[in-house]
Amino acid sequence: MKSVLTLILVIISFTLSAQQTFIYCGNLVDVEKGKVVSEKTIIVENDYIVDIQNGFVEVPQNSKLIDLRESTVLPGLFDMHVHLESETSKDNYIKPFTLNEADVAYEAQGHAKTTLMAGFTSVRDLGGSGVNTSLRNAINKGQLVGPTIYSAGKSIATTGGHADPTNGYKADLMGSPGPDQGVINGTAEAREAVRQRYKNGSDVIKITATGGVLSVAKSGQNPQFFEDEMKAIVETANDYGILTAAHAHGDEGMQRAIRAGIKTIEHGTMMSEETMELMKEYDTYYVPTITAGKSVAELAEIEGYYPELVVPKAKAIGPKIQSTFEKAYKKGVNIAFGTDAGVFKHGENAKEFGYMVEVGMPAMEAIQSATLVSARLLKVDDYYGSIKKGKKADIIAVEANPLNNISTLENVIFVMKHGEVVKQ
Ligand SMILES: [Zn+2]
Repeated sequence: MKSVLTLILVIISFTLSAQQTFIYCGNLVDVEKGKVVSEKTIIVENDYIVDIQNGFVEVPQNSKLIDLRESTVLPGLFDMHVHLESETSKDNYIKPFTLNEADVAYEAQGHAKTTLMAGFTSVRDLGGSGVNTSLRNAINKGQLVGPTIYSAGKSIATTGGHADPTNGYKADLMGSPGPDQGVINGTAEAREAVRQRYKNGSDVIKITATGGVLSVAKSGQNPQFFEDEMKAIVETANDYGILTAAHAHGDEGMQRAIRAGIKTIEHGTMMSEETMELMKEYDTYYVPTITAGKSVAELAEIEGYYPELVVPKAKAIGPKIQSTFEKAYKKGVNIAFGTDAGVFKHGENAKEFGYMVEVGMPAMEAIQSATLVSARLLKVDDYYGSIKKGKKADIIAVEANPLNNISTLENVIFVMKHGEVVKQ
């Protein structure tokens, strides 16, 4: 009787054992070793990589073959700074008055799909209305196609600061938004805003430490938080194990954020050498967003594209980011890949690689910043960030070897997320 039961169990487990997928890779970018290796077979089962073998191994019956012998295979890319809820357009500034939350959600799901198809299997959404967090949940449940999202929910500013949602409104519409809407003044409200985000399910806390380019406000770089407010934010976020990120263009606001323990500085436009040293001392990461800088400078040349207050800021700040990145990289500041997609068209995230390489970062390091480095920063490197046995099968492919031709990353021809082919 017992042996019959065992036999039945064996048969059941055999029929339930998942189909395996064998991926033949002409070239494979090994981001852990920092080199490109050739002729490998990746074996995927369910959503995991279960083995990587040398050469093109024979595919057993009942298993699937994906032939990428003519391609270069990489781990799925990370973009540490996107805004999936919106995309640049001339009428963006009236959208808060014309779009309902559901409209925003429908737009966002399209941007999420575009991002995934461009090879970005993981993104950090650094600020929206909260739809970004619902989008994350829907994708995780398999209801929508998109990248794995680490969501900030609504970012946090001070009154009139870069992420105050009512900047530029007439008085009766302006009201007085508070911690729930992401506007704080003082340490108590700072803590409340972080706890509210924890309650809302945010994975990351984003603050706007200085003025910004696209907000309807005069300065793009003045400091907008006191250090005690940022410390209160970081300490509270640390209690919940939530990562912190600070938008910053001006140097003073950046230094305050770094000293307060913020983990990533976004944009970092006017970063001084002193600040670069400070970042190394505090193990702070720089997320450059060069693509956004170049894009806003270009769009500002189009008459009427941005409000009047925004145009001079976009022209002055935008073009500076690439040279700041160059200096920071050469000084040895930690770099994590991020673009601010949404400020320019979603799906063009990989342009950033070219801008990084153009001013001296080796292609392999640029790829590592968008894979291993980002995964480590998000503390998900046990499962993401490289092609390795035991990790999730987030795998992409491009036509050429990106070490010889970095722009090939702008044309991703194959995308697998969690073992499922979403583009081929
Ligand atoms: Zn941004």
